[in-house]
Amino acid sequence: MAEVLVYVDHADGAVRKPTLELLTLARRIGEPVAVALGAGAADTAAVLAEHGAVKVLTADAPEFTEYLVVPKVDALQAAYDAVSPAAVLVPSSAEGKEIAARLAVRIGSGIITDAVDLEAGDEGPVATQAAFAASFTTKSRVSKGTPVITVKPNSAPVEAAPAAGAVEALAVTFGALATGTKVVSRTPRESTGRPELTEAAIVVSGGRGVNGAENFGIIEALADSLGAAVGASRAAVDAGWYPHSNQVGQTGKSVSPQLYIASGISGAIQHRAGMQTSKTIVAINKDAEAPIFDLVDYGVVGDLFAVVPQLTEEIKARKG
Ligand code: FAD
Repeated sequence: MAEVLVYVDHADGAVRKPTLELLTLARRIGEPVAVALGAGAADTAAVLAEHGAVKVLTADAPEFTEYLVVPKVDALQAAYDAVSPAAVLVPSSAEGKEIAARLAVRIGSGIITDAVDLEAGDEGPVATQAAFAASFTTKSRVSKGTPVITVKPNSAPVEAAPAAGAVEALAVTFGALATGTKVVSRTPRESTGRPELTEAAIVVSGGRGVNGAENFGIIEALADSLGAAVGASRAAVDAGWYPHSNQVGQTGKSVSPQLYIASGISGAIQHRAGMQTSKTIVAINKDAEAPIFDLVDYGVVGDLFAVVPQLTEEIKARKG
């Protein structure tokens, strides 16, 4: 069976959920061979094996943390040369997309970014993407070289599929460009205790209807009752009520959670572009004609200041 390279996104050995989702998709195409780089790379092996990795190629070197993405591209290319895979799958983070694009150029292959599904096809893997602000979905395949595909978080379930997960050291020779851009400092983001917006299974977002930074507390309370991330429309961000890092939409982040709850958001095309592929969409809006209601699975016409706290209380009560 053909091997499929899966680039592992991890923090000191803790594998992030989008990588486990990639393993589910990789198994549809062939046998997943994971590539884990940097500090704690070998610690990823047990979890990767539980989710289907037949092999885990690891490499650690100071270059992976001291410089930007090129050393990682060098390593992924070394894995590519060693394995000759049927496809290379990379999580669709900002860094993942840069790594994937650079690899595709180096190996002369086509690339598909931000896929939301992947299936085996007669002539190679077929990827589904959301196009034109998610008003269409397209299916495409790479017709030149080895398909390099980045996949958005929440595009596939995490499935247990025990496999050997044998750890092998990957020999990497860094090229002249590897040390071209040095990381000068790193500032860890202040932790809110909530999941990362683009990886969260549930996102609760607030818009202009929230009417002030001080009122975002009710959006956060609903999010916390569900273990969700908090998002915001650009109107709310531009007003200074919530950080830009939480903006959902064309010029913000693109999310695809199992559940998206929009409160006081009208549903402008630029907002939809970042959330329309969510599996279930709920909107709370006092205007029954708001365009957001055209795309919801469940809509509540009402004042968010009455509805959201009630919803939060009900969820808390049901959870006991
Ligand atoms: P509004 O459109 O003003 O809607 C507020 C809604 O709240 C209304 O529907 C109203 O009925 C409802 N409401 C008010 N009070 C209450 C209440 N008490 N209870 C319940 N409902 C209430 N927007 C994004 O979100 N993300 C982007 O990334 C983005 N990128 C953009 C890029 C470009 C190039 C441009 C031109 C625009 C972009 N926008 C983006 C802006 C976008 O066009 C909209 O202006 C924005 O999404 C509107 O935000 P909103 O829905 O919160 O506000």
